[in-house]
Order: sequence, then C-alpha cells, then structure tokens
Amino acid sequence: MRKEKRFCPLCGGNLEKIPLDGRIRLFCKECKNPVYENPVPATAAVVLNGEDHLLLVKRGMEPAKGAWCLPGGFVELDETPSHGAKRELQEETGLVGEVERLIDVVYEDSPFHGPLIIIGYHIIPCGGVLQAGDDAADAQYFSFTALPEVAFNSHQTIINKIARRNT
Ligand SMILES: [Zn+2]
Repeated sequence: MRKEKRFCPLCGGNLEKIPLDGRIRLFCKECKNPVYENPVPATAAVVLNGEDHLLLVKRGMEPAKGAWCLPGGFVELDETPSHGAKRELQEETGLVGEVERLIDVVYEDSPFHGPLIIIGYHIIPCGGVLQAGDDAADAQYFSFTALPEVAFNSHQTIINKIARRNT
C-alpha cells in the first residue's frame, strides 16, 4: 500500500491536510509551507531486434516481481529523461542505445509508487551484449504475436502504439 507523508521535509513538523489552491493539500503547521506532490517521471524503453521482436525484462523486485515489462525506471535529478531511458536500458539489459523517437507519455497511478508519468522512447541498440542486470532477473526478445502479460498498464499502452506499426 502507498504511504502518505506525515512529516514536513523542510522542518520535520507534523503535516495536516487543508484546502489550498483549489484542492486538499499537505501543509506544515510549523513552518507554514505547503508540501506539493506531483507525479514522478519514469522512462520505458522500446527496443526491437532485427526480426522486429520486442525486448522485455523480467522484474527481480517488487512491484510485480517475476512479471515482464519494458526496461526503464525513475529519472534521476541530474539527467534528462532520454538519458535516464538509455541508462536504465544499459543497467537492466547490457545494451547501449540511442533514442530514435518519443513514443508516448502515459499517466499511471501505481498502487506501489503512487502517481507516475511514464515516458516511452523507441531506442535503437548500437552496442553492448544482452545480459540481465541491476533489478532485472532476465532479459529476452519476444515476437509481438507471443508477448507475455506485461506488468504495467502504462507499458502496455506504449507497446500497443509500436505493435500497430509492427504487426
Ligand atoms: Zn515544515
């Protein structure tokens, strides 16, 4: 279950919920600052091999441990989304790639992480050796006609966009 913030990240004071700017927001009674909360950006990489098969990774950690999904993860503070997508691809699959194009930007309210913005890129692999790493337990290419169930709705939405071009 998703946890709510209870303490102010600035002063450690107790947070309360008050109406502010047209919605109920967290507010610190001690330092009188609102705590704004927003969807967190994450990336998902669509990588195809020479046979137009789709690269998926098997998740080694919760949420959805053991299920397949696109390679990807959270964007770090000091990187662009496209750099984050390439970094996560390399960490999870060993492949080095270049961003070909933006496929879609999808909102998903994750029961585990809370609201997310998933940025899906088509990435062309240009180096590296396919090997599962980091929090991926496996990494394999799948035909679009034999895809396993994909863990996240946002990833499925991104896959559907590219599948229409490949089947
Ligand atoms: Zn405070």
